[in-house]
Amino acid sequence: MAKRNMSPVKVDMPAQDPKVRAKNFEEVTHGYTAEMAKEEAARCLQCKHKPCVNGCPVNVQIPEFIQLITEDDFEGAYQKIIETNVLPAICGRVCPQESQCEALCVRGIKHEPVAIGRLERFVADYHRENVEPEPHNYEQNGHKVAIIGAGPAGLSCAGDLSKLGYDITIFESLSIGGGVLVYGIPEFRLPEEIVRNEIKQLELDGVKLEVNVVIGRTITIDELFDEHGFEAVFIASGAGLPVFLGIPGENSVGVYSANEYLTRSNLMKAFDDCYDTPIRKSKKVAVVGGGNVAMDAARTALRLGAEEVYIVYRRSFDEMPARLEEIHHAEEEGVIFKNLNNPSAIKADENGEVVAMTCIQMELGEPDDSGRRRPIAIEGSEYDIEVDTVIMSIGTNPNPLIKSTTEGLETTSWGGIVVDDNGATSREGIFAGGDAVTGAATVISAAGAGKVAAASIDEYIKSKNA
Ligand code: SF4
Ligand code: SF4
Repeated sequence: MAKRNMSPVKVDMPAQDPKVRAKNFEEVTHGYTAEMAKEEAARCLQCKHKPCVNGCPVNVQIPEFIQLITEDDFEGAYQKIIETNVLPAICGRVCPQESQCEALCVRGIKHEPVAIGRLERFVADYHRENVEPEPHNYEQNGHKVAIIGAGPAGLSCAGDLSKLGYDITIFESLSIGGGVLVYGIPEFRLPEEIVRNEIKQLELDGVKLEVNVVIGRTITIDELFDEHGFEAVFIASGAGLPVFLGIPGENSVGVYSANEYLTRSNLMKAFDDCYDTPIRKSKKVAVVGGGNVAMDAARTALRLGAEEVYIVYRRSFDEMPARLEEIHHAEEEGVIFKNLNNPSAIKADENGEVVAMTCIQMELGEPDDSGRRRPIAIEGSEYDIEVDTVIMSIGTNPNPLIKSTTEGLETTSWGGIVVDDNGATSREGIFAGGDAVTGAATVISAAGAGKVAAASIDEYIKSKNA
């Protein structure tokens, strides 16, 4: 048995120098070597009651896979993870581990928790680099299920249903699979190749991916049932409709939603000189919002050549929804944080182009419904920040197209599809999960919803055919 490592801190993960990486789109962190992974794996106490597993929305068998790393069986560790998680290279990179699996790690009570995410990433990368992907040849049951959206919820649902022998087709509105993983998360945090590779395994297992198909426009859900023989549909279309503040000047040239800005950079490759993608060559950029998407947009703006990039957020650092790691990375790279500030107007020149954003300073009052202290404007504290680009990153809602073309589908006031605990919607045979239900949330919670829906769809189709 490997000697236990009682170091109070995680084995450090190598990363590019902040000054260098702020000018390129290569991945920020390099991942563990085999030696580093074994050293970190030896910090795990192999707790019998496995509290860490309770923090993982897809129930990765954490101590088991970590034990296999200590035994040098990296491929065995990979196989253990994919019993419950079909997206390990992605989750190892973008899961908010600090509030999920690692939050419940016993080692984290007094010191730093075991670096579960980094170990998961190491194992997935080892598999990708060393093992030729092969089909699993699951036994087919002949039942067809349609999945709308090839993001984390859709892919995770497809993975579980294909293991059970279902004939799965994923309909994706964009030209490639991955959803928010490819259009929303920049290359420097999650390289597209990683996403493509995890989808490749699903395709080898027989999952069909139909791209450039907009459900509700190209084809409706009713047609999927009536004309194409699908017995169940899982809606995992995400939340792609940006929210704006509704302040004066928001229609000026140079105001983007974070969704549009990141899509132009990530999917349309604005960062690559070989592509002629229209995107503003900004010098001074303000990103409004405090979540991971805001950090991604700010760090992308730096890499696209901006000299000054501000994060403007109406609460303090303590309330910021972004992962601490992302905030640190942004700070290291030179993003300037203007917390406790809220935009009240955007100013444009005679050509309608952004020249400044007016902000008002805020202070924190009593907690509001979200449990966070309510920001209150300080009277007379307005001032202007000189900027040529403003990126709004204050949230997204589900696109109303599916709701408006599907009879009897109940939704909330903001467009979220209403489901029960099993992911079933108000229409028989239609299930939903991920951001289309919850509004923008984490990759792993969407993947978890995909698993719940897969189990419910299996039960539904079996009971219908019993
Ligand atoms: Fe942790 Fe995410 Fe892996 Fe689950 S999938 S063990 S939450 S990193
Ligand atoms: Fe290992 Fe932490 Fe899980 Fe215990 S709680 S088994 S130490 S990862």
